[in-house]
Amino acid sequence: MPGHAADREIEIEAAAPTLRVIHTEPQIDLAAAEKAAADLLAALNVRTDSDGMRDTPARMARAYAEFFTPRPFEPTTFPNDEGYDELVLARRIPFRSICEHHLLPFVGVAHVGYLPGERILGLSKLARVVEHFAARPQVQERLTKQVADWLQTSLNPRGAGVVLEAEHTCMTMRGALARGSLTTTSTLVGALRSDSRARAEFLALAQSSTEGGHR
Ligand SMILES: [Zn+2]
Repeated sequence: MPGHAADREIEIEAAAPTLRVIHTEPQIDLAAAEKAAADLLAALNVRTDSDGMRDTPARMARAYAEFFTPRPFEPTTFPNDEGYDELVLARRIPFRSICEHHLLPFVGVAHVGYLPGERILGLSKLARVVEHFAARPQVQERLTKQVADWLQTSLNPRGAGVVLEAEHTCMTMRGALARGSLTTTSTLVGALRSDSRARAEFLALAQSSTEGGHR
């Protein structure tokens, strides 16, 4: 999508192990979005002349602008001085994104893990990476892979794994009306893919975190 928010770039500085996420998205035109939202509602025969809905087109514009604007963050890494070599796993990271087919939300949890190599990442950054890639029109499969690929490229761990579970409102509130259904996707790279023991450990830990369903 040329000119779209997906044009954000991640720049990896070669000399220093400093990573910086740079946002290069064009300015969002809220006024144009508000007008378009009003036109959309009018075309759908939704009247916006009541007190409650007069500002709805402006609120719609701001809401979607927020969906498509990730908060900037610096994915700081640290040398793995202690030589920690076991799995690092952040479970049940809440996330929300917008499906690119219907522009409706999908909401769920992410389990993100890696087997450290020479560097480790601040733990809170795992959630921020998910948030970063979720802040654009997405499909769950691509979002899963982008987070795993980012970890692999930026951190060069021995392996990385991402499992996403989400409810897609385009499936649960319309169409199939499959209320309560969850879609699970996973991407495993490096040793988490090739080493059966590491793979089993990661998947078991990610799975155990979801038993009992969503809170
Ligand atoms: Zn959809």
